[in-house]
Amino acid sequence: MNSMNDDSDALGACGVSTQGLMEVLPGGPLLQAETLDAFLHLQAEASLHGFSLRIESGWRSFQKQVSIWNRKATGALPLLDECGNPLDAMQLDPEKRMWTILNWSALPGTSRHHWGSDLDIVDANAIPLGYEVQLTPQEVESTGIFGPLHAWLDARIQTGTAFGFERPFINGTGKIRPERWHLSHRPSALRFESGFDQTVLRKLLANGQLELLDPVLAHFETIFADYARVYFKRNEPI
Ligand SMILES: [Zn+2]
Repeated sequence: MNSMNDDSDALGACGVSTQGLMEVLPGGPLLQAETLDAFLHLQAEASLHGFSLRIESGWRSFQKQVSIWNRKATGALPLLDECGNPLDAMQLDPEKRMWTILNWSALPGTSRHHWGSDLDIVDANAIPLGYEVQLTPQEVESTGIFGPLHAWLDARIQTGTAFGFERPFINGTGKIRPERWHLSHRPSALRFESGFDQTVLRKLLANGQLELLDPVLAHFETIFADYARVYFKRNEPI
C-alpha cells in the first residue's frame, strides 16, 4: 500500500488521479477495485431482499467538484438549506452562499468521492416511473421512497454485515448534514483519511477556477474543521 507522504499521493486524495480505479459497468461510475468487489457483494445480498442497489455517484474528480460548487454558487444548480429546501443563491451574500453550499456539497478537494471508496446509492426498484432522483433527506427518511432500503442497510451496518460499508455522515459529524444515501467502504478509505494534506489542497484551490474563493480562503481553517469530508467520526449518536 502506498504511503501518502508525497505530493502525488496527496493530490490523489484531492481527486486529481484515477490510479487504481475501475468502472462498475462500461462507461459507468469508477470505484477502487476493493470497493467495487465489496459493493457487488452488498448488491447481491440486497437483491435477495428485493432491493436493486444502483450507484448514483462514485469517484468524482476535483474538476467535477469545482463544477458542482461553481454551479451552486451561481444559481445554475439548486441551492438547498439545511433541511433540503431550495434557496435563491443570488439573494445571499457570498459568505452566506458558501456556508449554505457546504451543508450538502464538499469544498473541492475535501470530498470523499475523490477517493473511489465512497458512493451514493439508491434502490432502483423503488423509483416511480418518470421520477428524477434528487438525493434529498425526504427521499431517505423512513417514509421516503428509499426508507426501506436504508432501514435494511442500518441493520446490516449495525451488525457488521455490510461488507465494510459504513455511513460517514451522521448527526454529530462536524456541521455536515446527515446523508443516508452516502456509504463509505471503510477499508478502502483509511489511507486517504490518514494521508490528507491541507497545504496541497490550499495550492489546488488557489490555482483552480473556484467561485467564492475569497470567503473560502478567509475561513479555510473553520471549513476544514467543520465541513471537510475527510474525517470519519465513529461512535457518535445517530
Ligand atoms: Zn455522496
